[in-house]
Amino acid sequence: MRIEENFNLRAYNTFALDCRCRYFIESDSEEELLELASSYDLEPDKILLLGGGSNFLFTEDFDGTVIYPTIGGIAVVREDEESVWVKAGAGVVWDDFVAWSVEHGFFGVENLSLIPGHVGAAPVQNLGAYGMEAADAVYEVEAVDIQGACRVTLSAADCCFGYRDSIFKHQWKNKYIITSVVFRLKKRGEFRLDYGSIRAELEKAGGDVSLQSVRKAVIRIRRSKLPDVEEMPNAGSFFKNPVVPLRVAEEMKREAPDMPVYPLDGESAKLAAGWLIEQAGWKGKTLGQAGVHDRQALVLVNRGNATGLEITRLANEIKKSVFMRYNVWLEPEVNIL
Ligand SMILES: Cc1cc2nc3c(=O)[nH]c(=O)nc-3n(C[C@H](O)[C@H](O)[C@H](O)COP(=O)(O)OP(=O)(O)OC[C@H]3O[C@@H](n4cnc5c(N)ncnc54)[C@H](O)[C@@H]3O)c2cc1C
Repeated sequence: MRIEENFNLRAYNTFALDCRCRYFIESDSEEELLELASSYDLEPDKILLLGGGSNFLFTEDFDGTVIYPTIGGIAVVREDEESVWVKAGAGVVWDDFVAWSVEHGFFGVENLSLIPGHVGAAPVQNLGAYGMEAADAVYEVEAVDIQGACRVTLSAADCCFGYRDSIFKHQWKNKYIITSVVFRLKKRGEFRLDYGSIRAELEKAGGDVSLQSVRKAVIRIRRSKLPDVEEMPNAGSFFKNPVVPLRVAEEMKREAPDMPVYPLDGESAKLAAGWLIEQAGWKGKTLGQAGVHDRQALVLVNRGNATGLEITRLANEIKKSVFMRYNVWLEPEVNIL
């Protein structure tokens, strides 16, 4: 176990923001995390569970303990004719897990290629892209109950998955340190190609449809659209795509026929937050050292030495102007601290 005091998290968040925490504890062992939970009085509001830090916006120093689980390992734990159950440690880089699954010929996460972060955060965030989300593949979650200082296994149903959402963000916030995730992947599957430009990208590359070619297509699309965090620090989509009553979406579309609308269930529809932000004139704009990416308006970037507060100010200005123009209130997707 590694323990640091007054530790700078700049290298541990993809916005590259300076933020100090009182204690930083890194561990690659479930036993150590159990011991930590039983030996220290870890109050929920004095803990921050950190994965790859790719969905955090730090606005101030944290006077508490950051727990950084780095448990590794990917292994098949069970299989039948149709499926394999694969257990991956919380500290495994998410895209390494996707690459492993694709290499082994297992279906279910290929469209989720190149999403930054660690496996432990996947059920928390219910990460998703191109018509797939973690909830489609998560079978169960293994965790350390911090107050109870015991191991628990939580089913997918326990996780109450929603759009980029789960119970770990609400009732169970800071209750469990996720130590590993068991995914149920398919030995034979159906490709989901009708999202974004996957199909067109595959055709451009010769039309071969396989797990490998889909992964490569998704990677090419993402690289062409999203800034590399190493070159331009960011946390991916800053806002969630807003969900509004279908009637409201239809009215808006009458006013702006080219507005993307994704009907959900006959009663509501999802709007594209990036489109709304772009229409409100924010694409490529800069406020201090914080900016809106010039290819994808949904991504806010640190143009140099931005502070978390500068990025928050920019986000608030965007929210206000989208609300004034469309009467739609954007909610952040990133975890703001
Ligand atoms: C360029 C870029 C592109 C992105 N594209 C996408 C995308 O297409 N789709 C998408 O869904 N997201 C996307 N994201 C956002 C982000 O990558 C995902 O949300 C990812 O799942 C976050 O993983 P992380 O390990 O970095 O989690 P962190 O940011 O470290 O943490 C996220 C949440 O999980 C909790 N957490 C982390 N680890 C644990 C653990 N072991 N136990 C309990 N709680 C834990 C944290 O407390 C926090 O609440 C993108 C981000 C970037 C920078």
